[in-house]
Amino acid sequence: GKRIAVMTSGGDSPGMSGAVRAVVRKTLDSGGISYAVYEGYQGLVDGGDMIKEMRWEDVRGWLSAGGTLIGTARCMAFMERAGRLTAANNMIEKGIDALIICGGDGSLTGADKFRAEWPSLMDDLVSTGRRKKHEVEHHRHLNIVGLVGSIDNDLSGTDATIGCYSSLERICQSIDCIDATAFSHKRAFVIEVMGRHCGWLALMAGVSCGADFIFCPENPPSENWQEDMCSIIKKHREMGKRKTIVVVAEGAHDRQLNPISPNMVKDLLSRKDGLALDTRVTTLGHVQRGGSPCAYDRMLATLQGVEAVKAVLDSTPDTPSPVICMVENKIVRKPLVDAIAKTKEVAANIARKDFEAALKGRDAE
Ligand code: ADP
Repeated sequence: GKRIAVMTSGGDSPGMSGAVRAVVRKTLDSGGISYAVYEGYQGLVDGGDMIKEMRWEDVRGWLSAGGTLIGTARCMAFMERAGRLTAANNMIEKGIDALIICGGDGSLTGADKFRAEWPSLMDDLVSTGRRKKHEVEHHRHLNIVGLVGSIDNDLSGTDATIGCYSSLERICQSIDCIDATAFSHKRAFVIEVMGRHCGWLALMAGVSCGADFIFCPENPPSENWQEDMCSIIKKHREMGKRKTIVVVAEGAHDRQLNPISPNMVKDLLSRKDGLALDTRVTTLGHVQRGGSPCAYDRMLATLQGVEAVKAVLDSTPDTPSPVICMVENKIVRKPLVDAIAKTKEVAANIARKDFEAALKGRDAE
């Protein structure tokens, strides 16, 4: 049967372990041999025990686990060709030429690069005497399939990434907790949520919790946002609202790309000559990554993990590497390079201060 390895890489997200479970079991179900690569690309470079054969029962209970039980890491060695050559050698040693990666756009970019240079890596292994010609003969093509694991929901081409709804749920629960104390003391809270380039978490949390004001990178506020925000909050207070919630994405900025920080917002709200609100800042931090995945992420991880194995089994040397997406409630395959290119385009539009194009790019996919 086919030897298929699964790996998690980049920032962890709830549901990654469920994706590993689905890949392992679908691989075994299809008569293949399953491997897990521990600690992301570092495990691939280190080889040996870091690439473990997986049995059905090895992933028991993984569906409800948070984070990733096979570990994840950032790996500098894999950024260099020499590291990728060692990784390729370790894979050949175990007869693996199919790799399913659950990670963010960085991890998937690395994966596609690995696939593109694979034939030349095979040549190098033979020419440097690390492998015999017959050992690489059956492995002239590397199968790569991407699964998107990210709490930020920051990949173009899919409606949801594995983990984003669990994170959103955790943020909403946290804001509910803050709401109660804010109401009691008539306070204002500025809440910083994750999402450096993507304001999805901030926007959805703001909508779900009835925030007074939201700052996210794709849609920076108008020039005089200070006055706008204060007048909106003043109006809400005059209507009898006892609490104020402002949600700020990590990567929030104005139209000139100057950062908008939670402390700036706090200073504004607490000014004695202004609203004079008793204001606190809460940075939710890593609780947002946390804990048990919500039902949606378990479902997404399972259906996408199964689809990823099917994509490996269907692939030919001519088909481009796919990434498994969710589009209007359907699991679909898309060319991995396109999804990454579109994601980078949104970021580039923000850097060029073309926010309309950034929003459009995000909507279109
Ligand atoms: P994420 O996958 O969450 O976006 P990173 O961007 O940190 O996270 O990428 C995770 C790892 O993927 C990196 O530490 C590196 O090992 C690998 N990687 C990322 N980009 C590349 C690249 N262009 N070429 C090779 N490997 C890469």
